[in-house]
Amino acid sequence: MIKISNRLNARRIGPLTVFVLALLNAGVPPAAAEVRSPVLLINEDAATASVTVKKLRGNISVLTGSGGNIAVYVGPQGKFMVDSGIAVSRPRVEAALDATGSVPLKYVVNTHYHWDHTDGNEWIHQKGATVVAHENTLSRLTSGTRVIEWGFYFPPAPKEALPTETVKREKIMKFEDETVVLRNYGSGHTDTDLSVYFKNADVLHVGDIWWNGHYPFLDNGAGGSIDGLIRWVNECIKASGPDTLIIPGHGEVSDRKGLTEFRDMLVSVRGNVARLKRQGKTLAETIAAKPTARWDAKYGDFLISPAFFIQMVYMDV
Ligand SMILES: [Zn+2]
Repeated sequence: MIKISNRLNARRIGPLTVFVLALLNAGVPPAAAEVRSPVLLINEDAATASVTVKKLRGNISVLTGSGGNIAVYVGPQGKFMVDSGIAVSRPRVEAALDATGSVPLKYVVNTHYHWDHTDGNEWIHQKGATVVAHENTLSRLTSGTRVIEWGFYFPPAPKEALPTETVKREKIMKFEDETVVLRNYGSGHTDTDLSVYFKNADVLHVGDIWWNGHYPFLDNGAGGSIDGLIRWVNECIKASGPDTLIIPGHGEVSDRKGLTEFRDMLVSVRGNVARLKRQGKTLAETIAAKPTARWDAKYGDFLISPAFFIQMVYMDV
């Protein structure tokens, strides 16, 4: 869901989240938990975190530091953006956007409905850009969504933040000298996911389908699941070539080889957790059996702790 700067201690969030889940399992509603949602901690961090710009290829740059990774394609007449970051970091996102060129922003596509990818929609729309997203992003932003694992209710978004163009399965957009292909492969991280492929540059933004180097969040309450995520990752691997640059929702930009390693981790953890559950192990016993041990050094030291990831997978299998 989110990238946090070094100033916010990631270890602080994992146990908090697990604590919220433990309370929920015990039948304690989030309001009674008296635990500050990680969403609030992340917003506080984004309010001051710097936003950096890195040029990738074919006039496409990636902006980091405001929620999920933002991609910007700069054409001769206008810009095309993927994800809009967190609203509190607007001044730094605007400065970073300005650094990519002086042409106006024409489009922003949301890879999914989570606030760290859509919260900037309102100001970006007010600047004249069209907001494009999956049709379920429109309905979730319109109605509001409770994310139980985060102990947080996202209220309905303001009208100005809502997508005005929607996608169900596929949309091909000719934008200046690029062809941009938006795709949905069903539910994965959520039921609102889109991948965004810049054909000429051969750059693919996959949103939170990929957390490069981190265990991913599975938004079970909004259609996400481990099996859906694995199916999505396999589709994105198929849609990539050996030279395709792949932008994850969180973590470093990488390629098909990196995404394949992530897929192998997901399949391995899913298999281990399913086997333990079939043996009749409770969630606590499954966590104690350390089914992610082989991967923890690489993936477990961020927002989603090994125990939290195991819990989400356990619920699905
Ligand atoms: Zn997300």
